Amino acid sequence: MQGGNVAVVGGSIAGCAVALAALRGGADKVSVLERTTGELRSRGVGIAMQSDRYTELEAAGYVHADMPWTRMSRRDWVVADGESERGRTIAEQRPFDFRGYGWGSLWSELRRRVPEEVDYRSGAVVTSVEPADDGVVLGLADGRRERFDAVIGADGYRSLVRDTMFPDLSPTYAGYLGWRGTSPGALMEAAAPAEFSEAGTVVGFPGGHCMIYTIPDGSGGHRTNWVLYTVPPDDAPDGPRSGPPAELTPELTESLRSLVAKHFPPYWAEAVLSTPPDETLMQPIYDLEVPHYATGRLLLAGDAATVVRPHVGGGAVKALQDALVLEGAWRAADSWEEIADAYERDRTAVGSAMVGLGRRFGRAQVERTPDWAAMGQPEFESWWREQTQSPEGDSGFGGHALRRSAG
Ligand SMILES: Cc1cc2nc3c(=O)[nH]c(=O)nc-3n(C[C@H](O)[C@H](O)[C@H](O)COP(=O)(O)OP(=O)(O)OC[C@H]3O[C@@H](n4cnc5c(N)ncnc54)[C@H](O)[C@@H]3O)c2cc1C
Repeated sequence: MQGGNVAVVGGSIAGCAVALAALRGGADKVSVLERTTGELRSRGVGIAMQSDRYTELEAAGYVHADMPWTRMSRRDWVVADGESERGRTIAEQRPFDFRGYGWGSLWSELRRRVPEEVDYRSGAVVTSVEPADDGVVLGLADGRRERFDAVIGADGYRSLVRDTMFPDLSPTYAGYLGWRGTSPGALMEAAAPAEFSEAGTVVGFPGGHCMIYTIPDGSGGHRTNWVLYTVPPDDAPDGPRSGPPAELTPELTESLRSLVAKHFPPYWAEAVLSTPPDETLMQPIYDLEVPHYATGRLLLAGDAATVVRPHVGGGAVKALQDALVLEGAWRAADSWEEIADAYERDRTAVGSAMVGLGRRFGRAQVERTPDWAAMGQPEFESWWREQTQSPEGDSGFGGHALRRSAG
């Protein structure tokens, strides 16, 4: 299927990747409309990418070995234990083959690789999406209206393109928050023996857990990245269950810091608490799946299509796989309908499976945390199996393997 004038709404990770996919697939003209004006690279913290999924994406040319990353080869689950500096390890997950990326540097590297013939427009805010005969008209905040043969919504979890396709769907709040931050790499590098350098660590505490790992800082050094999941306190604005807190207040950040001081082994508490309060990010956790990844000339990719809880460690992988599968569908198709059908057949099921896994992880690891301290390796392994087992044997942790048909 050659030719066509295509717009991608959103120029983040999914947006950059699907722009490349559309161009490689055969589109004549590709425009990326991104509402922010260049500051994307400085936001965000760590992204984890499962190594086998990385290999598939690298072979297809969507990620590259020279994008800065760190290696993880195992994950230790620890609990506080009296005065013990690093706490007590209750279980080791091995192999645990993931790569750690900095969100900003991963995005910059993808952005840099979007070919120049793609018209990437920063500061272009899409305000309306109107399906028309054989195309789609986009309205922009500056008043312009532009017609495209097809539009790919890569506009994140609050997607306007998805709202147009499925007006009754919206992300559902999972009832708890993710907190994210980074602290200077020197903390782990100076104090940790070599055996720590390739380990991710999870600190378990009543009502949640916190994953900590090293990421590149994008300038040749490292930072310690952490993400902590827990229900907000009862007195948070809007209450803990009715919806996420309306805003990030100093009281909320303080509640996080007291929780860490109370429940974490001292070494890991410092990793979190040395992130300045005003650099600590709050991310309400949501679920969302769509009945179709494509309808007519509208397609979805990345978080716009499915919002998967971050415990799955597959958000970036899923976005990049969406692009890769779209490219394959495009190359094999003779019409817009065939592109949409092939893309939709592959991705809708994968998205739903990942949302389901995220829910199971959330239930076991946040909503109904076990008595971590009472667990040892065998108990941990059976608890983990209960969450990940799937009839096909491909649990989807870190993202699903690409199907043979995909590329
Ligand atoms: C700034 C930022 C930081 C992030 N940091 C992390 C992180 O540290 N760790 C992590 O695991 N995940 C992070 N994420 C989420 C992660 O990027 C996604 O889970 C995954 O990579 C898929 O991304 P996406 O491109 O589908 O969606 P997103 O990354 O959410 O991108 C959507 C893009 O669409 C643009 N957009 C939305 N609406 C419009 C509109 N109407 N007109 C034009 N443009 C629009 C947004 O500005 C945004 O750039 C971050 C996302 C963003 C935007």
